[in-house]
Amino acid sequence: MPVYEYKCATCGAEFTFLRIKASDEPVCPECKSRQVTKKISSFSCSGGGIFSGGFTSSGSGGC
Ligand SMILES: [Zn+2]
Repeated sequence: MPVYEYKCATCGAEFTFLRIKASDEPVCPECKSRQVTKKISSFSCSGGGIFSGGFTSSGSGGC
């Protein structure tokens, strides 16, 4: 069962939502808002997408 993490854009509450059906809409348990954003689970091998530009070519990613 995939459990997704969401963060409410209205009140900032973070919650998990078990999406059983694709039509299920996550709703904030705090304020019942549907303005929630899905948090991507931190995969170990995925880059964050933020590069400060200070990297050298010494560490080529093995992933
Ligand atoms: Zn909320």
